[in-house]
Amino acid sequence: MNKEKRLQILTRLRDDNPNPTTELNFSNPFELLIAVLLSAQATDVGVNKATGPLFAVANNPQAILDLGLDTLKNYIKTIGLFNTKAENTMKTCQMLVDLHGGEVPEDREALEALPGVGRKTANVVLNTAFGWPTIAVDTHIDRVSNRTKFAMGKNVVEVEQKLLKVVPAEFKVDVHHWLILHGRYTCVARKPKCGSCIIEDLCEYKDKVE
Ligand code: SF4
Repeated sequence: MNKEKRLQILTRLRDDNPNPTTELNFSNPFELLIAVLLSAQATDVGVNKATGPLFAVANNPQAILDLGLDTLKNYIKTIGLFNTKAENTMKTCQMLVDLHGGEVPEDREALEALPGVGRKTANVVLNTAFGWPTIAVDTHIDRVSNRTKFAMGKNVVEVEQKLLKVVPAEFKVDVHHWLILHGRYTCVARKPKCGSCIIEDLCEYKDKVE
């Protein structure tokens, strides 16, 4: 895909949704970190249902530690893989207290050192809590980027690198959200809704579904 088409796609996505953000509910960087940590292989809606009551009683690392592992599990038991996620959350909270004064570090290496936090989660936190121009590539972004030929790559890391290279600076902070939302609601996995897609004329997918 050429530069001009990419620019048109980004401009259209921005015009359609000028201030995109995550669908996870959060009110501080810590809540976002925990919500993202819990969201692996789960829906944002499912995570929000659990974190609403949880954050109402505990929305900082020490408060979660004070709840204890069993109580935490009880709050998040509706989320897939909750046992492992609860254990990682407790360990992460302990590290935040011990190493970072109870704050979420604005630092990739420090974030990725937290249990249960990988490159994608670190990218989301740096982008959405701190405004960094990072691009967290998940399954939706991977699919949309490859299908449209906007930024092709064999895996999420290659797609991330390509996106970082081809997306102009003014769009970088928000492109993650635009592509995720586009993949979640329009360019869906099985039967993309090409007939109602706002970038249909620019997309280079060969098997469009009308
Ligand atoms: S035209 Fe179809 S394949 Fe292309 S981005 Fe839109 S929904 Fe996806």
